[in-house]
Amino acid sequence: MRTPIVAGNWKMHGRLEMARTLTADIALSAPADVEVVLCPPYPYLGVLAEVLENRSVALGAQNLASEAEGAYTGEVAGEMLAEFGCRYVLVGHSERRSLFGETDDEVAAKFCRAQAAGLQPVLCLGESQAEREAGDTEAVIARQLDAVLSRAGVAALTTAVIAYEPVWAIGTGLTASPAQAQAVHAFIRARVAQQSPEVAAGVRILYGGSVKADNAASLLAEPDIDGGLIGGASLDADSFLAICQAATTAQ
Ligand code: PEP
Repeated sequence: MRTPIVAGNWKMHGRLEMARTLTADIALSAPADVEVVLCPPYPYLGVLAEVLENRSVALGAQNLASEAEGAYTGEVAGEMLAEFGCRYVLVGHSERRSLFGETDDEVAAKFCRAQAAGLQPVLCLGESQAEREAGDTEAVIARQLDAVLSRAGVAALTTAVIAYEPVWAIGTGLTASPAQAQAVHAFIRARVAQQSPEVAAGVRILYGGSVKADNAASLLAEPDIDGGLIGGASLDADSFLAICQAATTAQ
C-alpha cells in the first residue's frame, strides 16, 4: 500500500502574504491520509515552517545546489533547506532542465546531494511534445531515470519520489489522458523493477501536468499513479484541497 502524496509547486508566484494565507488554509483542511507537501519559493520557507508547526503538511523546496558548500553565488545547499524545515525537494523539474540547462548528470548529482542532506528528492521526468511525437517518450524517460539509478543506486528510491511530468502538459492546460499517464508510470515502475521488484513496488510515482480539481480523480484512479505534482492549481487552496481529497478517495 503506497500512501498517496500531493505536492504543490508554487514556482515564482505570489508574495509573502499570499504564501502565509495559502499555507494556513491548506494546513487547516488537508486530509490526514494523504501526504501533502508545499514547495514555495526559497525566501518563504522559514516563515511557512512556523505556520506549519504541529501540522501534518510538509515543506519542500523547488531546487537545490549540486554541491554541499562553497563559492557558488546564488545557490542554496540542501542542508540549508533542511535547517529551514524542508523534508522534500524537487529535482530536475522540466523548467530547470529547459530554462536553466540542467543536464541528466547534474540532476543525478542534485538527487544525491538532497539525500545526503536528509531530504527526499522528488525526481521529475518527462518528454517534450516533439519527443512524444517522434515516439521517443520511453527512451527519454529511461535516459533521465537511468542517470539517477546509475549514480545513486536503485535502493536510493526507497527514500525518494518520482514525478512523471510530460513537458507538453505543464502549464498548458493539456493533460495526459489517464491511459497515457498510466502507460508511462507503468513503464517507469517496470524499469525500476528490473533492478529491484521490492523498490519498484514501494516507490511513489506522481503525475504532473495541468492537474485540476476536475481531472484529478480519473488520473489518480490509475493503479500506478500515486499522487500529483501540482503547479497552477496549487495556488488556490480550494482547488489544491480538492485534488488532495481526490487522492484520498482513489486509495
Ligand atoms: C508543475 O509545475 O510541475 C506543473 C505540473 O504545473 P501545472 O500543474 O501548472 O501544469
